[in-house]
Amino acid sequence: MGTQAVVSVTVGGRTAAKVVCGCNGMNAGRLAEAVRKLKVIPSSGEFFEMARDCDLGCGDCLVAMDAEMIVGGGGGLDPDDLDGGRYRATFDDPRFNPRWARGTADHVEVVDFPIPVEPAEDLAALAEEMG
Ligand SMILES: [Zn+2]
Repeated sequence: MGTQAVVSVTVGGRTAAKVVCGCNGMNAGRLAEAVRKLKVIPSSGEFFEMARDCDLGCGDCLVAMDAEMIVGGGGGLDPDDLDGGRYRATFDDPRFNPRWARGTADHVEVVDFPIPVEPAEDLAALAEEMG
């Protein structure tokens, strides 16, 4: 199926990790849900594996990236588009699909984590409650 998807993890609105695919994009919601449960920013390698587990994209089109690394791309993608090209240039826009210049995708999911994540207060309250 030719459904494209972009799934991004942002911290305070800033892109921290992004997955892009050209098929099976309807599973983007599953990946977004998995990241929400994870509660931490996945590395590009981890994000790639999670996307595979959610049946997002395929070996040819699935790409995961974070601020440093780009993983995947299989065959069929121009490495110039990946490295130093549009994928990297548009990374900061969490909703942009770098597979083509228009930047749109059928399925777009953005999981935003607030900064900072502070579980300490809740834990203290819980400890008090439990005596
Ligand atoms: Zn594919």
